[in-house]
Amino acid sequence: MNDGAKILIFRETHNSLLANSSFLGMMTKHAVVSLSINKKPFIMRKIIVTVAPVCHVGKEIPAECKNPLTPEEIAEDTINCYKAGACEVHLHTRDLQGNPTFELDVFRQTIGLIRKETDMIVQGSTGGLSTLTLAERCVSLDVPEVEVASLNMGSVNFGETVYVNTMPDLRYWAKRLDETNTVPEMELFDLSHVECATRLADEGVIHRPLHYNFCVGPGNSSNLSATGRNLAMLCSLMEPGCSWGITHDSMKDFSMLACAIGMGASAVRVGFEDSFYYAPGKRAHTNAELVERLVALIRMMGCEPATPAEAREMQHISK
Ligand SMILES: [Zn+2]
Repeated sequence: MNDGAKILIFRETHNSLLANSSFLGMMTKHAVVSLSINKKPFIMRKIIVTVAPVCHVGKEIPAECKNPLTPEEIAEDTINCYKAGACEVHLHTRDLQGNPTFELDVFRQTIGLIRKETDMIVQGSTGGLSTLTLAERCVSLDVPEVEVASLNMGSVNFGETVYVNTMPDLRYWAKRLDETNTVPEMELFDLSHVECATRLADEGVIHRPLHYNFCVGPGNSSNLSATGRNLAMLCSLMEPGCSWGITHDSMKDFSMLACAIGMGASAVRVGFEDSFYYAPGKRAHTNAELVERLVALIRMMGCEPATPAEAREMQHISK
């Protein structure tokens, strides 16, 4: 076969994948980042690996799991995750005991230590507790190193209480994201949140192309349960050209992350904020262990973890 024929095959494969993915809304052209037309054509998907290293305060921490709390501990743990293949870290503004706070000292110090050793993307949050004010919930945007921040796409039951994210709240945080040139990662806890994202994009409050993070988990009147059927439903509602990732709260094994990668997710998250487990009954001792196992899975599935530079391009970060 001559080179011209090989290129033609590559183009057809490439276009077919993109057309198909556009129809399903499951994979964007940004997921396709590496190719060779001189030898056998191939497409290498890059996957953004995010780590959320700090367990929620009040949650029981098993004795064998080393939950980082001080800036030094969080930074050391995160740097180990970077070495294992993570390119992004999701951090909340916490005090030295891990309690949510709107004081930025510990947060700034932690980021400074991480950035001394890595070029990881820092993801802040506009989430936090419903009891905080709107300004307090998005205080992390005041830190220039924060390039991406979570933006919840609506209210949801959390156990017996309501996690409040009204439409005016979302517009307020979206405006702050714009003002600080921070890219939103839209957190979807429910099917209706997909339509909420579309509405805000149509209003011009958030900007296309959209990147969703499906926050699935235990279900039971909290978020959507972590099932392949729910992932498929969420994907079916997305508009073409979007990218998406998954956070599996209370994860017991990697099966849903594998499912998401197989369905075209471009981002996956692990870490003690979400779960200590990598297999039924088996807990990781550190966040880096979770990342190592996830990266091994990504490579087994024929993909590669994205570098921070690649992840910045995939998420349209220009800060
Ligand atoms: Zn979080």
